[in-house]
Amino acid sequence: MKRRDFITTSTALAAGGLLSACNDNNRRAIDYSKIQEKKEKKLASIHVNYNKKVTLKLATSWPAHFPIMGTGVENFVQRVNTASGGSLEIKLYPKNTLIPALAVFDACSSGEIDIFHSGPYYWKGKNSAFSLFSGMPFGMTSEEINAWMHFGGGYELWRELYAKYNLYPMLGGNTNIQMGGWFRKEIKELNDLNGLKMRVPGLGGEVFAKLGVNPILLPAGEIYTALERGVIDATEWVGPYLDMKMGFYKVAPYYYSGWHEPGSILELSFNKERFSKLSIEHRAILEMASEEMNAKMTYEFQAKNSLALSELKGKGVILKSFPSDVISAAKKGLIDVVKYESAKNSDFKEVYKSASSFLNASKSYSDVSLKKYLTLR
Ligand code: CA
Repeated sequence: MKRRDFITTSTALAAGGLLSACNDNNRRAIDYSKIQEKKEKKLASIHVNYNKKVTLKLATSWPAHFPIMGTGVENFVQRVNTASGGSLEIKLYPKNTLIPALAVFDACSSGEIDIFHSGPYYWKGKNSAFSLFSGMPFGMTSEEINAWMHFGGGYELWRELYAKYNLYPMLGGNTNIQMGGWFRKEIKELNDLNGLKMRVPGLGGEVFAKLGVNPILLPAGEIYTALERGVIDATEWVGPYLDMKMGFYKVAPYYYSGWHEPGSILELSFNKERFSKLSIEHRAILEMASEEMNAKMTYEFQAKNSLALSELKGKGVILKSFPSDVISAAKKGLIDVVKYESAKNSDFKEVYKSASSFLNASKSYSDVSLKKYLTLR
């Protein structure tokens, strides 16, 4: 074909195509949707043939239907089932129905179950670095920790360390900034903390210990009675919504803003070998659904905490911030805790280095954006 002929023909074709598209817009739209429908049917048949039905066992550290954490996992299970056209079934075992709450890590590592939903700070006895993946006092918020995981090397470090236990972790929710806890008496200065018995776990507990507090660990079911009877003087838990359900406001009216758990993550961790043997579609569905759960739990905490706080105010709760001498002592205490843990464990040192350098960079931006904005609105 000569060049001039080619240009003429192709221009005419293009113009004709455009005209007919303009004239028969509706007819063409119907045609396309039919084509699409056919394609989808064909894909669905391939999908069913390719992905044989798989059943996975998921155990959690929460009771059945536990608000946000428990119900969030239930929603995840349903979403995976729907997205996979029923080819991926997850059998859900809430706390203690198959595996004791704090045995889920080992059960998944050994392959007794395939997935667990819990929190990395529970496993700090295995490796103190794990507590850092949950966040640390004066550390990252939920938004920052998600950014560090996805784009700052957090996921790589977490997966590398969990691989030693044959585990493959994913983010599975975030409590966002936790409240500093319920106190029977007002804390007016650092000295008021001296000798206080407080239910507070993790790195936060280690820092409170530097302030003269006796950190105590109690099972969830025993905290209220201990606080009521004065066996403990204070307790932290999560945030307004879950704290209100525990009833702490009835026996300890002083409710402090927090710094010890600014963005604690929840985890959805898989038996690594089992996960790697799943089809590429099933793995993609699980990754997308866990990401959805991670986001939605965070939003649910934000929404429900806001409502619960105004309800708590109506019940006469006294909102407080820790005095400045407590905050500066806590920041100094944190430095000591980090030095101590880093000297004992090179994994802790490495994870802290990555998390703290990401936090410092993030702070310099947040200081001129989020922080400024929050004081303006
Ligand atoms: Ca807590």
